Amino acid sequence: MPDDCPPSPATRSVARFAVLDSGIHGRGAFAMRVVGSGETIVEYTGELIPKSESAKRCAAGNPFIFAIDDQWDLDGDHPDNPARFLNHSCSPNCEAVLRGGKVWILAMRDLRPGEELTFDYGYDIEDYRNHPCRCGASGCCGYVVAETLRDQVRELEAKSTRRK
Ligand SMILES: [Zn+2]
Repeated sequence: MPDDCPPSPATRSVARFAVLDSGIHGRGAFAMRVVGSGETIVEYTGELIPKSESAKRCAAGNPFIFAIDDQWDLDGDHPDNPARFLNHSCSPNCEAVLRGGKVWILAMRDLRPGEELTFDYGYDIEDYRNHPCRCGASGCCGYVVAETLRDQVRELEAKSTRRK
């Protein structure tokens, strides 16, 4: 497998998604045509920054930071990164894949034109209450956290409800 896997030139010219108002949050990315399962939709581009800088930007509320390796993160909060419009969902249809030091958004299943493209932001459980989720999926835990942490969040929420 090559280090990175850009979209083939034949398909690059055909827009895969458009940025429109979203029912989940603000603006979202919507499929413009049929996208096949496993297809590369877009590279998630941004500024490569060291962890020390990334910690500052995360603390300032930047939600667009991806971990690349032990030393570097990618800050996708950039006008030339249309992938930043993809919203989080607890039942996502896309995934962010790290390949050759780059982040790619891939379809996890076949997508129809008009479907909103989403992926799991994979947020930590720390401060999860600052990130309410309105994805509308049946399994939504109410907050934007990584799939592996959602049961923990449900337990914490159940406990806090019982205390009230
Ligand atoms: Zn959700």
